[in-house]
Amino acid sequence: MRRWNGWGDDSVEEHVPHRAMTLLRELVGPSTRPVDASLHEVVAAVPESRVTPDGGAGRGLIVDALDRVRHARGQSLPDWVALRSGRLGATPDAVARPADSAAVAALMATAAARGWTLVPYGGGSSVVGGVNVVASDRPTVTVDLSATAGLRLLDETSGLATFGAGTYGPAVEAALESRGRRLGHYPQSFEGSTIGGWVAARSVGQQAHGYGRIDELFAGGHLETPRGPLDLPPHPASAAGPDVRQVVLGSEGRLGVLTQVTVRTSLTPRLERFSAYVVPDWGLALELARRLGQSGLPLSMARVSTPLETATTFALAGDRRGSGLLRRYLGWRGQGAERCLVIVGLAGHPDVVGVTVRAVDDLVRGSHGVAAPGVGPAWSRSRFSAPYLRNALWDEGYAVDTLETATDWTTLPALATELAQVLRHGLEPAGEQVHAFSHLSHPYATGSSLYTSYVFRLPGDPAEILERWRTLKSAASEVIVRHGATISHQHGVGTDHAPYLGAEKGPLGMRAIEALVHEFDPDGVMHRGVLLEDRPG
Ligand SMILES: Cc1cc2nc3c(=O)[nH]c(=O)nc-3n(C[C@H](O)[C@H](O)[C@H](O)COP(=O)(O)OP(=O)(O)OC[C@H]3O[C@@H](n4cnc5c(N)ncnc54)[C@H](O)[C@@H]3O)c2cc1C
Repeated sequence: MRRWNGWGDDSVEEHVPHRAMTLLRELVGPSTRPVDASLHEVVAAVPESRVTPDGGAGRGLIVDALDRVRHARGQSLPDWVALRSGRLGATPDAVARPADSAAVAALMATAAARGWTLVPYGGGSSVVGGVNVVASDRPTVTVDLSATAGLRLLDETSGLATFGAGTYGPAVEAALESRGRRLGHYPQSFEGSTIGGWVAARSVGQQAHGYGRIDELFAGGHLETPRGPLDLPPHPASAAGPDVRQVVLGSEGRLGVLTQVTVRTSLTPRLERFSAYVVPDWGLALELARRLGQSGLPLSMARVSTPLETATTFALAGDRRGSGLLRRYLGWRGQGAERCLVIVGLAGHPDVVGVTVRAVDDLVRGSHGVAAPGVGPAWSRSRFSAPYLRNALWDEGYAVDTLETATDWTTLPALATELAQVLRHGLEPAGEQVHAFSHLSHPYATGSSLYTSYVFRLPGDPAEILERWRTLKSAASEVIVRHGATISHQHGVGTDHAPYLGAEKGPLGMRAIEALVHEFDPDGVMHRGVLLEDRPG
């Protein structure tokens, strides 16, 4: 079953290896284990629902406190603090599980008539406050799309697949795999996020270089809006004016509820491999990332870590068989303390993969890098289990959060340096150290994403945890905005990034987005406060 106050399946436990704990204690200091609220305590504190599951479209609404707690928050650090401390704040008044577009339309009509707010909910994996209930006089109903799940149609001739929006990642790929096809969208939240959520939050998978980002994979679908239905036909390309699909992508539930999503699929690749390399320092690593991004090579992914992230990754590998040997081997090959890990993914026809591997090897040699045997397959095996470490680290007394951005190659070096600095030193006034480390998760031709994780000690008081998080998050966001980088490369806007959106879109851009929201949702039924700073009173 899904953890109610953390990440993933509660039958899966990850442990922080001894080497990683030692590194963390050295960098951040020893910690104290927190005392968390129990599910029973949190459920007992949920206030009475303000909606009644009566007849009509209200039929089927769930007002059970447990269900409401399970839908109250996403996966951001403030969400974890709320759940773990038992200071949950606003909870939905009810949860609806409509099975199709007609049921969503009926729910919208009821919501408009009765003054409810609707919050679309896919997997609830938002890390920016996207599914959180905003406290207001209006009752809130969370619309869980899980009952729409499933493959509706596969046009094998065109490679187009239509899914119910609430289909989770593993179910998407399982349905396609049995037909020899693949979507290839693998966000790290794959197991706990849905195809509708991916489109709504404009997500990016780890292998987006090869398969495409969701904004390239999304071909069309069906959006149920407070103004009525909107069908998005899956044309392969069109010159017929602005693309309405681009308006729906990243709309984060403000325009309505996506009930069906049609995606472009590919044939299952005949060969897939992940290779790892190490280059001597960050300057060479940045240069290699740029060359990979601009090479035009058919990579499925490339990921380039800073020296501190590389050291952390090796520490997290713990004392696994062969890891000591690998460290000695890399030292012997001249890859010292400043070494940077590079992971490259390839998928496709074996001949193409073979030629590409040789081209990548040449680029790596040109950067004075060497292969790191065994690391690529190990990374691929554990890539979805890394988020489980966040549960284990919290239990050990450490908070983990991540933030991400993207910018051009010219701006990137200074941005990366400044971001690391503000995070590392951000809690010094409180006498605390922060362990911050980054990687380039998606190198493109013109620039790259920059993904940063940061770890700090949990103080006993939940309000103090939030204060530390706010200090770090706002310092980092201000650096991002000052450099003209995007406030989000992949996590979306939600409530947390909404104050920074204007810097990116400009006043006219913001008015255009507001006008769209108003056109689709004139009475403000959909989740206000997300994407735009228009929280209801
Ligand atoms: C451990 C972890 C790893 C992550 N890794 C990645 C990553 O690699 N790449 C990445 O891009 N993101 C990542 N994320 C963020 C998150 O998983 C993505 O934003 C994802 O797309 C959200 O999908 P979801 O189904 O969980 O949507 P939710 O969290 O349920 O919702 C996200 C937003 O979309 C809206 N929404 C959801 N479904 C619909 C719908 N059917 N119609 C209209 N609106 C809808 C919601 O109201 C909300 O505003 C990660 C999150 C976690 C916790």
